[in-house]
Amino acid sequence: MPTGLDHTDHRAITDHLRVDGDAGLARRHEDEDFGWDKDTAKAYLPDVLDVLAESQTRLFAQGSDKLLVVLQAMDAGGKDGTLRDVLTGLNPAGIAVTSFGVPSEEELGHDYLWRVHSHTPRAGQIAVFNRSHYEDVLVVRVKRLAPRATWSKRYSHIKAFEKMLVDEGTTIVKIFLHLSRDEQRARLQDRIDSPDERWKFRRGDLDDRALWDDYLCAYRDAIEKTSVRRAPWFVVPADRKWVRNLAVASILRSVLEDLDPQFPEPEEGVDGLVVE
Ligand code: ATP
Repeated sequence: MPTGLDHTDHRAITDHLRVDGDAGLARRHEDEDFGWDKDTAKAYLPDVLDVLAESQTRLFAQGSDKLLVVLQAMDAGGKDGTLRDVLTGLNPAGIAVTSFGVPSEEELGHDYLWRVHSHTPRAGQIAVFNRSHYEDVLVVRVKRLAPRATWSKRYSHIKAFEKMLVDEGTTIVKIFLHLSRDEQRARLQDRIDSPDERWKFRRGDLDDRALWDDYLCAYRDAIEKTSVRRAPWFVVPADRKWVRNLAVASILRSVLEDLDPQFPEPEEGVDGLVVE
């Protein structure tokens, strides 16, 4: 894996992390730092977040583009931390974060995309999925919650569903936080050992950890089968939180830059008006 990416070059970072064909999970190192200096990268993040905030204000004001960000990771992969560290500073009125956990009875009574669709973004909004419809080809596959004949058809459903969203004006970005097994062990241990973190620990996390290789295989397939030009996956090294944060912020910066939202034209005759 080449290092030496410029930490200020959000375009190069985005291009480097985008999956085109091979997901490269074995080749991409979870603890990659791209040769960045930690203090410099951390100090630079607020600059990127300022640019994101400015772009989101325009997106919201323009009220036409829609952005869907899908966030997936193994347990303790840092989804919540990423949301906290990267979305901070954005206008909450224009953001909708939805977490998808174990489906309810009602959700299970419908097709698996039913619960997802109503949470896709509306015009001017950024919708973030904390886990997503991809769980239906991940946990469902690994834990055999449905037969192969069922989940194996879902890759093409998902591609068709996402294509429809894109055709209808949604920009889709899918991010996999790539955590190492060792770092997961450390983070889960931390959750057990620190009183402030213990609430996050579930015994089931250990069962999932035992299925690490199966999950990785399911992730590789999901990413490779559904990463397309208009709804790409990005594999973000996630062992170092400061690398993860700058990488995710850089991807969002590039995507918003491409959308290039603009403030709407003011009403006619507003220029020069004086408020009494
Ligand atoms: P963290 O990653 O920080 O530990 P979390 O995302 O695991 O947090 P939880 O609410 O504890 O948050 O876990 C959600 C659980 O729901 C996960 O175990 C996930 O596999 C499960 N889940 C999500 N979607 C589905 C689905 N379609 N079918 C079955 N289980 C699902």
